[in-house]
Amino acid sequence: MPSSPTLIEKIAEKLRLIPNLHGDLGSEVPRLTEPGNLTNYPPPEKWDDWVEYEAKSWPKRHAKHYMVVPTSCFNCEAGCGLLSYIDKSTMQVRKFEGNPYHPGSRGRNCAKGPATINQINDTDRILYPQKRTGKRGAGQWERVSWDAVLDDIAGRICKALQEKRNNEVVYHVGRPGHEGYIDRILQSWGVDGHNSHTNICSAGARFGYAIWQMYDRPSPDHANANFILLISAHLESGHYFNPHAQRIIEGMMNGAKLAVMDPRLSNTASMADYWMPTYPGSEAAVLLAIAKIIIDENLYNRAFLCDWVNWQQYLQHERPNDEITFDNFILAIKAAYKEYTPEFAEKESGVPAKTIVEVARQIGRAGTRFATHNWRSAGSGNLGGWAVARCLHFLNVLTGSVGTVGGTSPSAWNKFKPTVPNKPPAQKFWNSLHFPNEYPLAHYEMSFLLPHFLKEGRGKLDTYFTRVFNPVWTYPDGFSWIEALSDENKVGLHAALTPTWNETAYFADYVLPMGHASERHDIISYETHSGLWIAFRQPVLREARRKLGKPVQFTYEANPGEVWEEDEFWIELSWRIDPDGSLGIKKHFISPYRPGEKITIDEYYQYIFERTPGLPEKAAEHKMTPLDYMRKFGAFEVEQTSYNKHLRSIATADLQGAETDSATGLIKKAGKNIGVMVNGAACEGFPTPSRKQEFFSQTLVYWGWPEYKIPVYIKSHIHPDALDRNKGEFPLVPTFRLPTLIHSRSGNAKWLYEISNRNPIWMHTSDAKKLGIQTGDLLRVTTDIGYFADRVWVTEGIKPGVVACSHHLGRWRRSQDAVGNRWATSLVEIKSVSSDQSSVTSDLGHRTSDFGHQWQMKTLDTIRPYKSSDPDSSRIFWSDGGVHQNITFPVHPDPISGMHCWHQKVRIEKAHAEDRYGDVFVDTQKSFEIYREWLKMARPAPAPNGLRRPLWLNRPLRPTEEMFFL
Ligand code: SF4
Repeated sequence: MPSSPTLIEKIAEKLRLIPNLHGDLGSEVPRLTEPGNLTNYPPPEKWDDWVEYEAKSWPKRHAKHYMVVPTSCFNCEAGCGLLSYIDKSTMQVRKFEGNPYHPGSRGRNCAKGPATINQINDTDRILYPQKRTGKRGAGQWERVSWDAVLDDIAGRICKALQEKRNNEVVYHVGRPGHEGYIDRILQSWGVDGHNSHTNICSAGARFGYAIWQMYDRPSPDHANANFILLISAHLESGHYFNPHAQRIIEGMMNGAKLAVMDPRLSNTASMADYWMPTYPGSEAAVLLAIAKIIIDENLYNRAFLCDWVNWQQYLQHERPNDEITFDNFILAIKAAYKEYTPEFAEKESGVPAKTIVEVARQIGRAGTRFATHNWRSAGSGNLGGWAVARCLHFLNVLTGSVGTVGGTSPSAWNKFKPTVPNKPPAQKFWNSLHFPNEYPLAHYEMSFLLPHFLKEGRGKLDTYFTRVFNPVWTYPDGFSWIEALSDENKVGLHAALTPTWNETAYFADYVLPMGHASERHDIISYETHSGLWIAFRQPVLREARRKLGKPVQFTYEANPGEVWEEDEFWIELSWRIDPDGSLGIKKHFISPYRPGEKITIDEYYQYIFERTPGLPEKAAEHKMTPLDYMRKFGAFEVEQTSYNKHLRSIATADLQGAETDSATGLIKKAGKNIGVMVNGAACEGFPTPSRKQEFFSQTLVYWGWPEYKIPVYIKSHIHPDALDRNKGEFPLVPTFRLPTLIHSRSGNAKWLYEISNRNPIWMHTSDAKKLGIQTGDLLRVTTDIGYFADRVWVTEGIKPGVVACSHHLGRWRRSQDAVGNRWATSLVEIKSVSSDQSSVTSDLGHRTSDFGHQWQMKTLDTIRPYKSSDPDSSRIFWSDGGVHQNITFPVHPDPISGMHCWHQKVRIEKAHAEDRYGDVFVDTQKSFEIYREWLKMARPAPAPNGLRRPLWLNRPLRPTEEMFFL
């Protein structure tokens, strides 16, 4: 509970100078939105029997009785709260609305939340497990029983583990969820088998943050900021979209100014006080020019820099003969950044120097109330994109707005980590298909290189799970994925865990239907604002049945068809992999409450909620168990605000036996840094080697990148120097999304496709004039490995000289594939056409002709109305489903962060006579060659002491420490 406010705090809260930190929480669960015309949620005491008139019976008044059960949205990473309305007469979910008791979303959703109802009612969804009967990819399937599936997969995994082929068992996730759950499964199996989509998503920005402070994401306190700077389209589609968007608006309503760097005039940029249309990849140059102004004009926060930045290390390294004083540090950085003038930034970015100076001064004036965010955007588009996040965070460091009210906190301060039952130990394996030696600093798995690694013979997969993951469509170089997935020598068994058909599932051996948001369990906690919360995703029909006294044992009994939930699938599978317990797996799936018995899903979440600080007490006030409280309200606020956690004191008990280094202030215990002395206080600090913000990175120096020892600007692979404008070359920005689309999962949401269903090429009017192009013209866009044909949208809303195309469209199915996502998919024909490949032998002993084919995709039929039990399917009015551009992109692994650099150098020309809308052509041999070119930029492990990777940086599914050494 909050402490009593002082008089000054009371006045400051009343004047809204600081947030209300002392509101009376009482025993009631606070409803987090004020009641109003558009926020009249049913009161919780009526949730078991809520009466509304049936809209379809109008004008008759036909009362309908609903049970209202909360769950969480799964249509992006924000995890907003939803309330499901279950018709008690039919036990069908009728609609989803916001949950006003969810601290992140506070009752609000974007269009994608309520569209969950489309997904669960989609007539094309997969209801039963399917097994391939013909050749892989041939589209022949038969329905099989879950028992047969579990026995088959368990047998394979058991054999692989017995034969010590642990690295051949891999789980590859698209949209995560299941906080901590899958780590527990994989570690109980003893496999280093976690792969993710992060290196085609956010690893660039994550690395930029991690190299400063280990925490790899920002958590801006937009609502309390005076100035907000976004390197993305955060109001409409960014990370933690709806929770952030509502707080950005709150901040602006309270007077905050907004600046947006984006070559597109996004909806966000159109709301901004300053739209800074940077040339893609030049963002770091602008940020460093801002930094220079803040330094030169003494707008920096001296106290924060002096106390919480490792400036002494920098001086020791850079100016060993200088006295180590803070003033000398300021002189040193003035010299280091002297080239980054506003004029230089203008030359690189096209943003006027005057605007840069004005924004810099506003940021300096905002001081500790400066909120920033960069997620995908520039961090994911460019070679060296990680430097954008690093330079952006530099501004937070300079202004002292790290962890402050209205500033930007490290992500982990606002994300709750659950305590799970019976946690297995770390695995004693290192999977080089995920973390190869060439990329020792890669922030996440090098997942987009997997097809090339398999083609090179670096390893193979025995059992490969893909979960809500569709690399054939979402990744670059999708045809290389098709080639790898089609080869049973490379991928022994591919099980696609997915609620709906997708382009990758077509190349699976099993397609296993898993539940949508309201059909499974999970817990969620994200850094949506300065607080800390946990939310419960629950299968709402199962919960409704329990409340009505008709409980089920497994979630699939309440779901449609035989749709399972992953949580129960993994428990059942693990139990079957190790039936007699001899592999040491089974013991991790024993109930913490019933010795020797298999754990149930209710017990798993009961255990977590009983250990969530403050939740048992709050539940007791309501005369509930913690599990029942979460079933009832769907969310719990663990901390109302979470600022300045680096200042937390180290407990006296922890200081027993610790030693303090007099030169650095580092407090060490048992060989580990546990904190730092600052102004006489033993503080936790940040989890970096210096326990401070690392302006100077000894890590980058040590790992062979001394040129990046401090934040600098790195020229992108699509820098103007790399383009030949005379050949019609442009930088293509493919990283933005239309606000109403999800990745693969909007294909089964009719409302969303009704709103957005095409992805034209954005081109500035001046460029179109030069090229004689008009809106609607068909263009051929040629990448380094192929081309696609798309129409153009001529607009003033894009920077001249830059083209852009949204990446969420162009879904397809072939005539042999099971019908699915017909709101979104065009019918296509894919042909592998022969190429006159030379037979040069590569340095790995393979002929280059082993590495690729030429592929062609042509649209046979567009989206059209169809008959189904949903009358809306015969009302489809759109025919255009967009163009699949990603498949024409080669892989571009950043040599440091490991991020795929999405932006492309493309040649734009009018379509050739034979080109048709939606055509795609790709040569995967060329894509292999480009992979090898980019691989040459890497500076491989080991470090001088034999390390594969720095110990202090995080690694997903962290193995034992000895596995970090080669
Ligand atoms: S922002 Fe939209 S899609 Fe994302 S979780 Fe919230 S409601 Fe769902």
